[in-house]
Amino acid sequence: MKTTKIKQIKEWLPALNNPFIFAGPCSLETEEQTLITAKLLAKDKRVFAYRGGVWKPRTRPGSFEGVGKIGLRWLQNVKKETGLLVGTEIATAEHAYEALKHDIDILWIGARSTASPFIVQEIADAVSGSDKVVMIKNPVNPDLNLWLGAIERIASAGIEKIVAIHRGFTPFTQTKFRNYPGWKTAIDLKALLPDLPIIADPSHIAGRKDLILELSQKAFDLGMQGLMIESHFNPEAALSDKEQQVTPQRLAEILNQLIKKSESSNDLQFEDVLEQLRERIDVLDTELLEILALRREVVRKIGKHKKQQAVAVLQIHRWKEILDQRKLLGIKMELSSEFVNTLFNCIHEESIKLQSEITDDVVNQ
Ligand code: PEP
Ligand code: MN
Repeated sequence: MKTTKIKQIKEWLPALNNPFIFAGPCSLETEEQTLITAKLLAKDKRVFAYRGGVWKPRTRPGSFEGVGKIGLRWLQNVKKETGLLVGTEIATAEHAYEALKHDIDILWIGARSTASPFIVQEIADAVSGSDKVVMIKNPVNPDLNLWLGAIERIASAGIEKIVAIHRGFTPFTQTKFRNYPGWKTAIDLKALLPDLPIIADPSHIAGRKDLILELSQKAFDLGMQGLMIESHFNPEAALSDKEQQVTPQRLAEILNQLIKKSESSNDLQFEDVLEQLRERIDVLDTELLEILALRREVVRKIGKHKKQQAVAVLQIHRWKEILDQRKLLGIKMELSSEFVNTLFNCIHEESIKLQSEITDDVVNQ
């Protein structure tokens, strides 16, 4: 990636002593709603930044589409009154220029925009050379390269304060979540860009208040560094996303219950035990592979034997017998039959492939 190093959150926010909490209403609705909510949130010292959408990307027209740039002045006021950093979503170059002009600290690219490289490039050109924080939500579809590409475009514009926001993906079937979490995509992104801070947006994953705690905990368990959570002083009256917005008081309760796990511990004894257990896992995995290699040799011999007698590679009764017997054995060892089933299907598929190569049998090809 043609870029300078991506900065850690702590590098641009030295006062941060906890996970980064970025909270505020889905949409700014009135100056009063903006400020009341901000003041309530600012009482909680764990909240470092205030979010509020002023241009709302609604999936269908006709619903509340935001107050527009007047909301940026309300955000300036929030900054003055509470000392919180303020952020808003930008979806066009014009939005970016306006947000920069109003000295908004955090500009985020929404999930619908990340999915469009043209929009992202326009935004990248508009923010080029600025010192602002740019956060990039995952695209609505689980396309790691689109997400990565958006991050690269912003980084190439010279932005160093970049944060990825994981907000889940459009589901194909109805689930309990508004957007299915698909954590693996965020884990894959982290593997590609280990220095990139990633926070989660449990509000948009959940789509409802009661799942926010468990999703936030999951995000922390995966080592994410913060949360964007929608909070409104009166969620029932919210003009957008009212089902998922929590009051500042409920947000504090959620934060109280969360346990932030660190990647390592300073407790040497703990590290010692962990190290020993990991060594045992390494040994066991090696033994597992050695046994699989031995099994492969036996499979090869059986294949040759079958070839001599022109016997087919696959005997379905034998395979069924193996699977049932292994599942029973597995249960005795407290291995779920689902796991044993998946494992042996995989092993069996490999055996059939090997024997087919030996006998040139067309079964299973
Ligand atoms: C939002 O943060 O209010 C929003 C519209 O989110 P997303 O881009 O994740 O849908
Ligand atoms: Mn929202």
